[in-house]
Amino acid sequence: MSILVFIEHAEGAVKKSSLEAVSYAAAMEGDVTAIAIGSIAEDALKSAGKAGASKVLHVTDEKLEKGIIQAYANVISQAMEKIGANILVLAKSSLGDPVAARVSAKLDAGFVSNIVDLPDTSSGFQVKRSIYTGKAFANVNITTEKKILGIKKNAVELKEDGADASVEKFAANLSDADFNVKITSQDKATGEVLLPEAEIVVSGGRGMKGPENWGMIEELAKTLGAATGCSKPVSDMGWRPHHEHVGQTGVKVSPQLYVAVGISGAIQHLAGVNSSKNILVINKDAEAPFFSAADYGIVGDAFEVVPKLTAALKAAQN
Ligand code: FAD
Repeated sequence: MSILVFIEHAEGAVKKSSLEAVSYAAAMEGDVTAIAIGSIAEDALKSAGKAGASKVLHVTDEKLEKGIIQAYANVISQAMEKIGANILVLAKSSLGDPVAARVSAKLDAGFVSNIVDLPDTSSGFQVKRSIYTGKAFANVNITTEKKILGIKKNAVELKEDGADASVEKFAANLSDADFNVKITSQDKATGEVLLPEAEIVVSGGRGMKGPENWGMIEELAKTLGAATGCSKPVSDMGWRPHHEHVGQTGVKVSPQLYVAVGISGAIQHLAGVNSSKNILVINKDAEAPFFSAADYGIVGDAFEVVPKLTAALKAAQN
């Protein structure tokens, strides 16, 4: 069984969520080929071998640098045909989902996203996906011959014991029709760690009183190597950029640790964070709803607790 895995990269490295997708494919015991689009060093791509890919197809067409999704979908569809793959695996992400949807339409392939476990092939091809923002699971049978599986971040154990993969250039046949979307400008998200990918997130809410107090959130985040996030009202009021807004209507995160400072824990905020492995809540109100979703809680004034916590972490690191 031949499986293609679309791997994303950032800052010169394959994203961890994509290596998880490769690990997932390897656990299905197929012949795993990965495909990467855009400029990244060959050595970095070889790392996909550790997660279980035998080969990486590298697409370096400059026209794809801007990330036109329909062109990506065409490249991936052609790569599937080339290697005779009936299964495409990718990380569930803001790029993976729209790419998968287009490949699905092109190849008439059943697409299920947010998958948390290996398929059950005892009768048919059944996958388990997380639904209702992590509150329940659905078992879905994919009945089409070609299948696309979007893997939820942090749901799969990362395989790291494979050998380096070989890297081969791959050029797809693309026409002007693949580039009929024009990107007029692109903004890079601020912050050292990107929010959707972050292993640790430090978020601030209205309890932080104003943008002038965000220095302590950023300092704690920097000390932990974390990304910064915020509640919706905070971004609505312009205290923080919109791409930091976490929740039902914002970014959904699933880090190892989510630190919520001065956030009440409204259901719409929790919808974006309840896949986190651990949640630490800092709030001065012991009755704040967030405490019932927390693994750890500190009842106290953020303006006292956060600087003390940052200082203690710094001392522990020295
Ligand atoms: P507040 O509710 O005002 O809470 C502030 C908290 O800070 C309180 O718990 C208070 O005790 C604490 N606090 C105050 N001072 C201190 C201090 N000195 N030290 C420590 N703690 C302190 N919200 C989201 O976040 N994300 C979403 O995606 C989202 N989507 C929504 C979609 C819809 C359709 C609707 C209707 C609402 C949505 N909301 C969303 C808004 C949501 O309902 C809440 O209003 C919002 O999350 C509250 O933000 P907050 O916790 O920062 O503010």
